[in-house]
Amino acid sequence: MIYDVVIIGAGPGGLGAGVYSARGGLKTIIFEKGLVGGQIVLTNEVENYPGFEVTMSGFDLIDKMKAQVDKFGAEFKTDEVLEIKVEGLWKIIKTSKETYKAKVVIFSTGAFPRKMNVPGEERLTGRGVSYCATCDGALYRNSVVAIVGGGDSAVEEALFLTKFASKVYIIHRRDKLRAVHAIQERAFKNEKIEIVWDSVVKEINGDQFVQSLTLLNKKTNVESDLKVDGVFIYVGVLPNNQLLKDQVELDSGGFIITDEKMQTKLPGVYAAGDIVHKVLRQVVTAVSDGAIAAFSAEKWIDENDEELNKTL
Ligand code: NAP
Repeated sequence: MIYDVVIIGAGPGGLGAGVYSARGGLKTIIFEKGLVGGQIVLTNEVENYPGFEVTMSGFDLIDKMKAQVDKFGAEFKTDEVLEIKVEGLWKIIKTSKETYKAKVVIFSTGAFPRKMNVPGEERLTGRGVSYCATCDGALYRNSVVAIVGGGDSAVEEALFLTKFASKVYIIHRRDKLRAVHAIQERAFKNEKIEIVWDSVVKEINGDQFVQSLTLLNKKTNVESDLKVDGVFIYVGVLPNNQLLKDQVELDSGGFIITDEKMQTKLPGVYAAGDIVHKVLRQVVTAVSDGAIAAFSAEKWIDENDEELNKTL
């Protein structure tokens, strides 16, 4: 099967690319191995995506984006891409079911939550250890929970958890939060939130379910035990770069380096969204990456179409 554009990953980056690519008349297919929407569907409130003055859920926002891509006629396939190979100007994409040929690949596979890798974390995952407050928050009505991390995700999700929990600790390894000031201020004002500064989790304790955390204060070197019913881990994200990591340039964190056209070092292979090396990981920047990638793809196809057709 031959396509102009194959988009891998249907988060905001992939959907942004889908709108521009399909609207531009390019034959476009979007592969997603899981749920359409990526990480943002796990966010309860999106309040900084322009155009929607009423706060909406990540799920609803993605629903609208998907409907817009459908309107312009891109195909969606639930399938896992297993390999991407460049053969001359063409790209060969092997999925778990078929092999596809495309002029352009837009790689928008996003990122996934980083683990702390401390004792108890893996064993108690799903038993009080969670990486998704939107999914599991309601299980902690009138309970005491902790969030680990000091970035936007940690602080936003701590605020969300105050709707259910009686107390929310934010455990942060420094004495300043990384989250943007607007969110910090809301956390500082919220009476249910207490920040445990300069501290890391050494161990998550509990037989069947989480019962407490062993904390280490990095300034005083004192260990303490914090009783909690659940712990939500938001210590950053890692890139889903496996399919391309040996073929493109990566930064030290494994995120893909692109030029201003969102092109990787492989001609006709673009990247968009959280997988890209960038200063700001937001829905709005992911969508923008996707738009630029699709716009650049159209130009690249125009410039190379004669050669592509010769080698079909
Ligand atoms: P992040 O910004 O990378 O923050 C990760 C946090 O975890 C940092 O505070 C970091 O501490 C801490 N940390 C890292 N490793 C740790 C460890 N092993 N133990 C304890 N703490 C650790 O990640 P994020 O909050 O998941 O956000 C990811 C991206 O999405 C960011 O670009 C963010 O801006 C964006 N985002 C935006 C929004 C929004 O705009 N509404 C919402 C969510 C996420 P240090 O501060 O000391 O490094």
